[in-house]
Amino acid sequence: MASTPGDDQSEQPEQNTQQGLLDAGQSVATAVQTTLGPNGHDKMLVGEKGKVLVTNDGARILDRIEITDPVGQAIARAARSQQQAVGDGTTTTVILTGALLSSAQSLLADGFHPTTIVDGFHRATDVARDRLPEYAVSVDRTDEVLLENVAKTTVTGRWDETNTARFAELTVSALQAVGFDRSKLGIEAYPGGQLQESELVDGICIDMESSPATVDDWGRSDRRIPNPRIAMVNSEITIEKPDAVASVTLESSDQAEQFRDHEQAVRSKIVATITELDVDVLFCQKSIDEPIRNSLSRAGILAVERTRQDQFDATCRATGATAVQSVDQLTPEAVGQAGGVRRRTVGTTETLQVVDCPLETRCSVLLRGGTPHVAAETERIVAECSRNVCLAVGDGRVVAGGGATALALATELRSAARSVANREQIVIDAFGEALEEIPRVLAINAGRDPIDALSTLRTRQAGNEPTAGIGSSGEGREMIDAGVVEPYPVFDRSLAIALDAASMILRIDDVIETTATERGDAADTTHANDHAGPDTGGYPWAISH
Ligand code: ADP
Ligand code: MG
Repeated sequence: MASTPGDDQSEQPEQNTQQGLLDAGQSVATAVQTTLGPNGHDKMLVGEKGKVLVTNDGARILDRIEITDPVGQAIARAARSQQQAVGDGTTTTVILTGALLSSAQSLLADGFHPTTIVDGFHRATDVARDRLPEYAVSVDRTDEVLLENVAKTTVTGRWDETNTARFAELTVSALQAVGFDRSKLGIEAYPGGQLQESELVDGICIDMESSPATVDDWGRSDRRIPNPRIAMVNSEITIEKPDAVASVTLESSDQAEQFRDHEQAVRSKIVATITELDVDVLFCQKSIDEPIRNSLSRAGILAVERTRQDQFDATCRATGATAVQSVDQLTPEAVGQAGGVRRRTVGTTETLQVVDCPLETRCSVLLRGGTPHVAAETERIVAECSRNVCLAVGDGRVVAGGGATALALATELRSAARSVANREQIVIDAFGEALEEIPRVLAINAGRDPIDALSTLRTRQAGNEPTAGIGSSGEGREMIDAGVVEPYPVFDRSLAIALDAASMILRIDDVIETTATERGDAADTTHANDHAGPDTGGYPWAISH
């Protein structure tokens, strides 16, 4: 870009600080660049105690690496905002922010004032977000193929093609079954077995690992309890013991007998309450006294101990049962109902499936996978997939991935810039250039020459393929047909958040180091702001202003 000694040229020392800040911002973006897209690599993060995390999720990487400079921290915060808002597109946001800072750096060197750059970037973002709908394709809950493609695009690069397709299908059918309400979908990962043995089951799946005796009570594995009445108890089910007394001294055999009789009577009362209410299955969040459990079992009542909180709550909501603190609080109204309860063995884990619940149609995805680490990672990926599919359904639009939309918007910006008569024109152009960083990085990660790849794409887009992008092997492809689509809000948010982060950084002209001791009351507030404190728009030092 030609040097334009402008009337708004900044002071020299100020500019040096600013250049330093921008360099720092770009180095954060460079750190995550190689993880972008289907050919992105994972990063292995090794913690202080040697704990290893392998991930290619931009937000997770930036969360874990120690970033000391305020600009890097601002970018990490931008990634976190993206993650919280839409759950995907974090690497894109970081790369875009880095590219904007790089464009800004050239503009500053050419004598543009930061304010002119920030204003121009805002205008460019407005144009880009205004044009974005023109590149969108409508989607609704019946478009299985398109929705599966959204799911596949989310997970590309993590599994082989067969597993990707299988999980995409699993996710979409699970969501269809629960009316695209993610809160009604249980995602349970069980280590052991093969990834491809993962399956979708009706109803709520309750783990019986922590209630081994129930499995014995259950007997035959194909036994099914039709139309069970279900009771839910929050606290431990036991006979009350005098709290303050550690031991009871019994002076005669009569007394011992009386004591036993008393205990027996209390137990019988508990069991009687449950049987009188005609309960078939009892879930308890804590433990159940063994003799009580045995009596219940003899009375044909299935008692499940230590039910996991989320599964317990889901059962209450779906069956209409009200959780009570103790058995004596159980009433006919507190008892819920389901269409059936059956046992299901998932690998080596016994689970209990509550199906056909009257109040909520629920569904569970049972994921299998080698080690606990693999199972947990699979759970995270499927959760991300289902979030993206719901986002697409909720918004009703998807856009082409593979950098196609970013490149198309860059072209839009170039033509929009021509209608701006002042120097903002150059800034808008520079914003377009920054957008091209997305297809450029995708091409580089796929081992292609980015200049060749981008020029081919521009030609194809200018022809009749406005959604041509970088395919998974780096080749130019029409992205919608290739099935590379993303929920509209993901890209839209990336644009907005990258703009906010870049403008915030550009407004900083100096960093003043303050130490905790000098600040006194503000000891470690920077840290607090980083994680949980009020958002000060990214100025860690401005907390108490
Ligand atoms: P982010 O954190 O930004 O979501 P990802 O590593 O998930 O980063 O990569 C997302 C990028 O990869 C998007 O631009 C998306 O369109 C692109 N992408 C995903 N799947 C494919 C594919 N099969 N072919 C080409 N590009 C893809
Ligand atoms: Mg992603």
